[in-house]
Amino acid sequence: MTAPALDVLSRVFGYDSFRGPQQQVVEHVAAGGDALVLMPTGGGKSLCYQVPALLRDGVGVVVSPLIALMQDQVDALTALGVRAGFLNSSQDPDERRAVEQAFLAEELDLLYVAPESLGGGESRTARLLERGRIALFAIDEAHCVAQWGHDFRPDYLGLSMLHEKWPDVPRVALTATATPRTHAEISTRLQLDDALHVVAGFDRPNIQYRIAPKNEPRKQLLDLLRTEHPGDAGIVYCLSRSSVETTAEFLVKNGIPALPYHAGLDQRTRATNQSRFLREDGLVMVATIAFGMGIDKPDVRFVAHLDLPKSVEGYYQETGRAGRDGLPSTAWLAYGLADVVQQRKMIEGSEGDLAHRRMLAAQLDAMLALCETVECRRVRLLAHFGQQSEPCGNCDTCLVPPETWDATIPAQMLLSTVLRLQRERGQSFGAGQSIDILLGKRTEKVVQHAHDQLSTFGIGADLSEQQWRGVVRQLLALGLLAVQGEYGTLALSEASGPVLRREQSVPMRREPERVARGRTGKAA
Ligand code: ADP
Ligand code: ZN
Repeated sequence: MTAPALDVLSRVFGYDSFRGPQQQVVEHVAAGGDALVLMPTGGGKSLCYQVPALLRDGVGVVVSPLIALMQDQVDALTALGVRAGFLNSSQDPDERRAVEQAFLAEELDLLYVAPESLGGGESRTARLLERGRIALFAIDEAHCVAQWGHDFRPDYLGLSMLHEKWPDVPRVALTATATPRTHAEISTRLQLDDALHVVAGFDRPNIQYRIAPKNEPRKQLLDLLRTEHPGDAGIVYCLSRSSVETTAEFLVKNGIPALPYHAGLDQRTRATNQSRFLREDGLVMVATIAFGMGIDKPDVRFVAHLDLPKSVEGYYQETGRAGRDGLPSTAWLAYGLADVVQQRKMIEGSEGDLAHRRMLAAQLDAMLALCETVECRRVRLLAHFGQQSEPCGNCDTCLVPPETWDATIPAQMLLSTVLRLQRERGQSFGAGQSIDILLGKRTEKVVQHAHDQLSTFGIGADLSEQQWRGVVRQLLALGLLAVQGEYGTLALSEASGPVLRREQSVPMRREPERVARGRTGKAA
């Protein structure tokens, strides 16, 4: 005789074995225990609550913030013969009443609800739940309860009432975000300290991680798509709505079928574009990070970032949407000086208290460290999630180990230019002006401010402008230089002193010289 869990797995879902820790979780929850499951995107979290819900009496209640996907999830379950429904604000009263009745009559196996509809326990939905029989609570995207995280939703804080109101109903919380810190916060806030904690392997070996200096991002992207991913489906992330639009137009103009997605588009367009991306082959979705949570498309072959993500967690989740089918996929990120300046500036100017700004800065620092590392990207990435590993052989730094060079003297030149502007002139400027000064360029702005009289004028002419931008970017990434004010001008940081005095050496990543195109028609 097969075990009941395996029986449900094969009879209902058509799979012959559990993956990773699924079986352990399923059996624990089916027996009435609580669980906290940290598993990467595509790892198979859904079965961890779907199977026990089918094994237990009553209805499994799934709390999910992904209202837009509830219909899809319910359709997919219905197709398997699982009785599923959802309650959310998009429904008309008749639909709602039908689902409520099905719930009370236990004619449902799974019921999806939005966190806000539980309203801390006083809402219509909460009162409904009190009148029915509940098999379990699944709390999906559980990292939304963590204030430290990047997806915090206040409604999730109210979910601690589930335990107080229904102490005998098992709860399983699931997330793909698993820094030790977020993990601890979920556990505390949802009162899951005594639950079974499962952390599944976060490595996604089929994803090749690559982080490139940003020169002409759209062209670089086009190259990548044409040479490595012709006809493939993929996601391109941009920071702003306007760059989503222009990038999508650019790709279409260059013969690549692309669709835009961002929160500024009307609901209909978003829904259409999302479902086309899911159903058609070879479409490229150009999107802000508003797109992607809960999207289950197995054959996304690449995820490209044209702007720097704000945190490693965000980067990991977004890139994790590639290659869910296990086949080789690419995670490509282009990152440049302007990204660092812009993000540092945004944190400086952000609302919220000092502790909040410090948290944002720490998250950005970790992301920058990943970008600037000369070691294996995957080793860094996994270390961020508390896992040790060996160099992977499938990331850019493993495939082409970057050279380093001693940038101590250029770093000192740059910092002393910033210092002189500040001390001798009481001025601060952006990166461009300092670079022009070092290169000895008599631009209008240099002459106007008599910056050609500074003692550092022209002393850096041995490096190219691009190399200087690399130096500034890496100094900013390393915290050896700071950004201040609404214009993002350069300023010394606390850590600048030892470099200025040449007490500290500054090794930097050597970057490929930018390929000159167009003019000679031949890549040099
Ligand atoms: P997650 O929610 O963790 O991102 P899903 O639950 O959506 O992942 O599962 C990802 C994919 O893996 C789905 O297509 C699912 O059907 C498949 N899958 C999950 N568990 C198994 C299993 N035990 N055997 C085969 N396929 C599985
Ligand atoms: Zn590697």
